[in-house]
Amino acid sequence: MKPAFQPRLVNDPFGDPALYVEFLFQKRAILFDLGDIHALSPRKVLRLSHIFVSHAHMDHFYGFDYVLRICLGRAMVLHLYGPTGFIDRVRHRLGGYTWNLVHNYTEELVFLVHEWDGGRTLSRARFRCRRAFACEPLAPMPVEAGVLLREPGLMVRAAVLDHKIPCLAFVLEETEHVNIWKNRLAELGVPTGPWLQALKQAVLAGRPDDFPIVAEWRDREGMHRRRFTLGELRARILRIVPGLKIGYVVDCLYCDANLKRLQRLLDGVDWLYIEAGFAQDQAEAARQKYHLTAWQAGDIGRRVGAKRLVPFHFSARYQDDPEALVGEALARFEGK
Ligand SMILES: [Zn+2]
Repeated sequence: MKPAFQPRLVNDPFGDPALYVEFLFQKRAILFDLGDIHALSPRKVLRLSHIFVSHAHMDHFYGFDYVLRICLGRAMVLHLYGPTGFIDRVRHRLGGYTWNLVHNYTEELVFLVHEWDGGRTLSRARFRCRRAFACEPLAPMPVEAGVLLREPGLMVRAAVLDHKIPCLAFVLEETEHVNIWKNRLAELGVPTGPWLQALKQAVLAGRPDDFPIVAEWRDREGMHRRRFTLGELRARILRIVPGLKIGYVVDCLYCDANLKRLQRLLDGVDWLYIEAGFAQDQAEAARQKYHLTAWQAGDIGRRVGAKRLVPFHFSARYQDDPEALVGEALARFEGK
């Protein structure tokens, strides 16, 4: 089954990191990191609903003003997520402009900003255009197992990595696809109908095997009703296909603590976008800057069992030979 979203790096591997994930069946997109994103058209920026920022080093957060400029005056709610201190960073960015006329705007841009320190709560604040983007603290929300966003069809989880400062790594997971074997349903002697939707929802909600499912339908003889258990239907008529998992890892030290967190976060990831800033002969320079080498990026991809590795966020010193970094990352990833 075709995945519901399509990821694409906004810039070449030397440009600021930003991964634009477009939803194929909705006019909507999610962005990971907010560096220089001028390559995105205004139309694409206006599709954004959620932006996840790994940390506030300039190459990851410089594009905030571009988003603000395009979305100002629109009726939009933008959800922003970032590490410890992020709400204050956004407050400062918004505080850099004069907002004495915005209370007249008919359409209101709202930022809902979330800040996660790796613990069990998500701090939140709201910045509304007509209130001159004053910071309005909101009640914190609980966080379970690093899940920052969960909605029907998708989930975004995060882990806090050591980049000398906290830096968030993310994984976007599409919910598994629940397909019905139509021929087996016919063998069961039960027609399709709205009850199949309830069945799919029960699967996606993780209901147990003894969960009751009632198939109801009407024909010339009247109303019919048959009772099943979820386990019975799962075995007889369901085909469950895992959804796509996309990992996004930038700016972190290659160390045991980070490797453990990444292992947990990225288990079973399909596509892994990962920084590979330096060649391995510059491992000491990478370590001092709390960055990964290309070999280390490949090694992480291999350890977590990624299906595909996309190395990026290259240091400008390799401008003449980006293939060297790609080659080193993929050689380790493929175990050569
Ligand atoms: Zn950084």
